[in-house]
Amino acid sequence: MQEKKTKCYNCQSEDFKIIHLGVRDNDALNVIQCKNCGLTTLSDDSHINEKFYMEGKMLDKTTNLECWIKNTYQDDKRRFDFIKKKFKKNLSQKTLTDFGCGNGGFLNLAKEVCKKVYGVELHKGLFSYFETCNLDVKTNINDINEPSDIITMFHVLEHLKEPIDTLKKLKNNLAEDGKLIIEVPNANDALLKLYKCKKFAQFTYWSCHLYLFNEKTLCEIAKKAGYKVTKIQHVQRYTIMNHLYWLIKGKPGGHIKWGKYDSIILNKIYSQFLSLFKITDTIILELSI
Ligand SMILES: [Zn+2]
Repeated sequence: MQEKKTKCYNCQSEDFKIIHLGVRDNDALNVIQCKNCGLTTLSDDSHINEKFYMEGKMLDKTTNLECWIKNTYQDDKRRFDFIKKKFKKNLSQKTLTDFGCGNGGFLNLAKEVCKKVYGVELHKGLFSYFETCNLDVKTNINDINEPSDIITMFHVLEHLKEPIDTLKKLKNNLAEDGKLIIEVPNANDALLKLYKCKKFAQFTYWSCHLYLFNEKTLCEIAKKAGYKVTKIQHVQRYTIMNHLYWLIKGKPGGHIKWGKYDSIILNKIYSQFLSLFKITDTIILELSI
């Protein structure tokens, strides 16, 4: 089969293997992996351009704004708690930019404690909503005229065609002693790497995830953009019941459907086990210049 991608974005190797035929919303795209560095990518990314994101085409057409905000609240809160814990009382003296801020759920929490918050978002349809929330959101980070002490990128990097170029660009907006926090889905998620759950693979591989990183490839990309990696964390968003449901029923939603069986202690131990083997569903990287 003729693949459009001929060179690895990370290491320039031309040696790929196909790891999954088709993605959930496009049978013509394959998921491929560089045999040299292990970067996971799509066989072709010509379907994605700036206009695609400006028109909000990444979102499911059936999801309205209210529903979307409700669905992301748990992640927004987890991310906000993470930032609060990390920067403690100093947050009131910090300027924060959330790059790819989506519906602004995280920013709406952060604006209550930070000195100043900005968002960067391409999706034009959201700007009237941002105004009602008093959120200062730009379509281009160059329009923000002060350095940020904290820049966050939550599940954004895997959507970019040129992640190294974007990371380099963000350096111009990061204060000298600032931190860039990147959260991405892990290419080595246990459902893929340990359990090899075919139904999950069919569900998770998606035409909008142009790259999937593991700890190694994520750090390599960050270093190529000129950052120092100051911390790597493996975080498990989904519960053990979500995983058991995938393995038994082959469907998402187990954390809700079997939620009554979930236990905080069990999930904590399970999360530690997944972290130990670097097979959590999420990786958080902290970078400095
Ligand atoms: Zn490579």
